[in-house]
Amino acid sequence: MSTVTIAHLSAAPGEKAKGFLDAGTTSVNTYRVPLAVINGAEKGKTVGIIGGTHGTEFASIEAVIRAIKALDPKKMRGTVLAVPVLNGPQFEHKTMFLSPFDQMNLNRVFPGDPGGTLSQRIAHTVYDSVIKRCDALMDCHGGDVNEDIHNYVIAGKGDDEEVNKMALDMARCFPTRFITLFPVSPTGMTMCAQSRLGIPCITSESGTPFPVREGEIVFHHEGIMNVLRYFGVIEGKPKLVEPVISSGSTRLRAVEGGIWRPAVTTDQTVKAGDVLGVVTDLFGDVRQTVKAPRDGVVGMMRCFYSVNCGELLVSITTLE
Ligand SMILES: [Zn+2]
Repeated sequence: MSTVTIAHLSAAPGEKAKGFLDAGTTSVNTYRVPLAVINGAEKGKTVGIIGGTHGTEFASIEAVIRAIKALDPKKMRGTVLAVPVLNGPQFEHKTMFLSPFDQMNLNRVFPGDPGGTLSQRIAHTVYDSVIKRCDALMDCHGGDVNEDIHNYVIAGKGDDEEVNKMALDMARCFPTRFITLFPVSPTGMTMCAQSRLGIPCITSESGTPFPVREGEIVFHHEGIMNVLRYFGVIEGKPKLVEPVISSGSTRLRAVEGGIWRPAVTTDQTVKAGDVLGVVTDLFGDVRQTVKAPRDGVVGMMRCFYSVNCGELLVSITTLE
């Protein structure tokens, strides 16, 4: 095992180094990517863990912080590269999905651009300095400011069956009821690394920002630690669950603006035709009754009271 050095951060075998990578500047500030390099005493795989690619998905951020605290490099084989909050601008400004500086969705601009705007530079910094070194990548998400998302995992699906199986196994390391498969492409999400680098990639989804709930932090955290067992980075036998592979989900939107009054909660099983909620006008009169188009489970709920036309209300995931 040798020393791992990323920019000015250096961790000898059995050491944990913490610091920041400069990504880009605004008129008065420098935005940085926080990084923990946790270098095991013995040789093994390098696993990347990212939280806060969407900076208000706080349960995922807290889970990565707990992993950084919990991991003891003296007892590890291999290396963990952990980024607790990738999207500093969104984290600080609490904006919905988009950076306040360039109005870009960070999880749509990978692998980034070193000469681009702030989001593109943040993507480039983490892709070039962290993701390129990894044998596997976990990107933890869940519940931007308008969303309440129940636990599930997205596994990358590309051309290489062996890599696809590893991604699916990583997803099965999370205590999830269902998994969705995502066809990876060379650009866009962090999971582009499966297409570009041939490494297995997953995205875990769970949480809502207000409040941050313990159960959802634990979902991400247990999954992270279990994936590290799967790759032999930490001691122990991984527990792989047997979730349903979902065939897809249906997203239902507001026809007109008004007030969203949900009738169901996340993770609730629904039948085709069940009422999921109504949109009323500002006098309380119902303008839209939202019904389940098919049997499934409530995967995502809007958590804002007011709604504008065309905005997302609820998504139903098919579990067969
Ligand atoms: Zn997200």
